[in-house]
Amino acid sequence: MERLVRSCYKKKSGYVFAKKAEDIAREYGIGRIARLASNENPEPPSPAAREAAEQALLTVNRYPDERVNILMYALREHYGDYHFVTGVGMDGVIETIIRTLVEPGEKVAVSTPTFSFYTLAAMGQGAEVVTIPREADFSVDTKTLIRMAQEAKITILCSPNNPTGNATPPGTVAEILEGIEGVLFLDNAYVEFSDYDYIPLMKKHENLILGRTFSKVYSLAGLRIGYAFVPRWLVPWYQRASTPFTVNSVSAAAAAVALRDKDHAQRYIAQVKRWRERIAAEVKFPVLPSDANFVMIDVAPCRSDEMVENLVRKGVVVRSCRSFAGLEDHYIRVSIGEDWENERFIKEINAL
Ligand SMILES: *Cc1c(COP(=O)(O)O)cnc(C)c1O
Repeated sequence: MERLVRSCYKKKSGYVFAKKAEDIAREYGIGRIARLASNENPEPPSPAAREAAEQALLTVNRYPDERVNILMYALREHYGDYHFVTGVGMDGVIETIIRTLVEPGEKVAVSTPTFSFYTLAAMGQGAEVVTIPREADFSVDTKTLIRMAQEAKITILCSPNNPTGNATPPGTVAEILEGIEGVLFLDNAYVEFSDYDYIPLMKKHENLILGRTFSKVYSLAGLRIGYAFVPRWLVPWYQRASTPFTVNSVSAAAAAVALRDKDHAQRYIAQVKRWRERIAAEVKFPVLPSDANFVMIDVAPCRSDEMVENLVRKGVVVRSCRSFAGLEDHYIRVSIGEDWENERFIKEINAL
């Protein structure tokens, strides 16, 4: 019966998930695993967000608010008078935006190496994916990007970029916005860890979308909730392309409250900034500069998978960058975790 499955899913491998800590613990008999592969905030969510989720559970016999007003109010309170859409993770937002704008056969341009889901989502909608390589130092080659993205409905740029960690200056983003015909989706999953502010660009450009998530700094990865700043014209069309009740009421309630707990976010942001420096100073391999809550490390002459396997044996899970198309096979990506996790990582990688 598998002949019935669409060819776009057969010709490419799917999303690559991190190894499960529980499996590693069992396989190697290690009690505590340092989980540094998925860029999560190691701290549990804000207690107020947890309480809001528990309250919301009491009424899950009812369908959620399709307008997600509880979260829309919180977003406007937090950021000001902008237009937002929400989704099942930022991944859900990306998929819905592609569905809203891209006809089968039309182009989606992606600046690479980067997060793999853009390509998977675009192919799932029958789009043609145009990949535009970054420079050797992973900065964006603006001229080439504008030229190659000319015919694309959507151009996708990740800043700070996963997995390289570097961010693109707002001035460069403005140049791209003016140079392309279509929409720019700027993936800001890690923007809270950077000093760049892209929000002022929303007022000047009708073709900018800023994708955001509650999965990283807000400790809500398991609730699957994301959002985006969008131009006003897009809102009703996004809603038309969405499933009718996309965001569940528990996630919406928790996210609205999480946004207000500034101390929770600030604690992890401070932890990230402190440890980015320590890791760069103490690890014996070259650590690339990062504006995110992870660092990419050049482990040559070791290969990515080999280094990951060596660290897993020591109870440290990091991400191999082998599966990021357009990247040479000698990088790993390491999230900033709790103190003991980061310390163990530095000790074990330096001992290899
Ligand atoms: C984690 C991540 C996301 C979104 O994650 P969700 O959990 O779906 O909100 C989006 N883009 C990048 C680059 C990411 O690393």
